[in-house]
Amino acid sequence: MTDCLLTLADILAARRAIAGVADATPFVPSPFMSERTGHDFLLKLENMQPIGAFKLRGALNAVQALPEGTAGVTCCSTGNHGRGVAYAARERGMRAVICMSELVPQAKIDGIRALGAEVHIHGRSQDEAQAESLRLVAEEGLVDIPPFDDARVIAGQGTIGLEMLAARPDLSMILVPLSGGGLAAGIAVAAKAIKPGIRMVGVSMDRGAAMKASIDAGHPVEVEEVASLADSLGGGIGMANRLSFALCRDLLDETVLVSEEEIYHAMQVLYYEDRIVAEGACVVGLAACLSGKTTPEGPVGTIVTGRNLDMEMFTRVVTGQDIELGDYTVKGRAYEP
Ligand SMILES: *Cc1c(COP(=O)(O)O)cnc(C)c1O
Repeated sequence: MTDCLLTLADILAARRAIAGVADATPFVPSPFMSERTGHDFLLKLENMQPIGAFKLRGALNAVQALPEGTAGVTCCSTGNHGRGVAYAARERGMRAVICMSELVPQAKIDGIRALGAEVHIHGRSQDEAQAESLRLVAEEGLVDIPPFDDARVIAGQGTIGLEMLAARPDLSMILVPLSGGGLAAGIAVAAKAIKPGIRMVGVSMDRGAAMKASIDAGHPVEVEEVASLADSLGGGIGMANRLSFALCRDLLDETVLVSEEEIYHAMQVLYYEDRIVAEGACVVGLAACLSGKTTPEGPVGTIVTGRNLDMEMFTRVVTGQDIELGDYTVKGRAYEP
């Protein structure tokens, strides 16, 4: 049923659109995770993308598809999607306006400006920033690039699945960090088209996992957004979700939730064992295996989705200190394998 929403052909087209700019990241073994799980365990290093996250693939595929003469693009993401849209627009020599609320830290604003985009500061909430983005669409003819619920964005993220299976056709399981589901949907469409028997597992944090709650309910639901070590996995899936919900519901074989403590430990594992500096969102696949919440089988791949994190917080994690997440405290613990 979801076949008609997006096909392998869309993802092959995306591969051509992003070639040379946002593709061909390393796919490397993790000796520690392989030893722990008893299976080859491989990491797709999207933290090596020019913007430090995989979101460039989807944003670039969407921006490349716009007709000649398009006035420009906009979005209201303060995170990796905003960076992706800014970079993609610059590639095409197109105007980009990223809308943010007054509450966004200066460092994020500077990061987006450094990529050549304009930043519009509007209101004191994400909703007000979104209103400014909609105004730019209505009054200035800019095109809104959605962060996950868009066929071209999903197809762009799906190119990761093509690359993983081209490098390792024997892969039998892929663990995907799961938020709005653009990444998981794209990879699942690609991987299941190439290898129907492959097991696709989506992993989120157990506090505020909107996609898992929606799949369980059978329709999109709102969940309360709370602070998490995996902050890139926060946020809803949109009550009017058109694509990513149905694709994740139909193509994910399993969805798993991991705790903040499990994410904390897995960040230490990725740092001390593989020497990788990455966001909390990246390690949920490792955490799902290390905690026994999912059973690895055959060669396993997961995606190190991004590196854009608060280094002060990261330093606290790798040195075993407490982390305050709003009213929740993750108890510090020195790393032990
Ligand atoms: C956006 C993002 C995700 C989740 O992707 P979705 O398509 O929203 O599920 C995971 N990790 C990082 C670093 C991200 O920026």
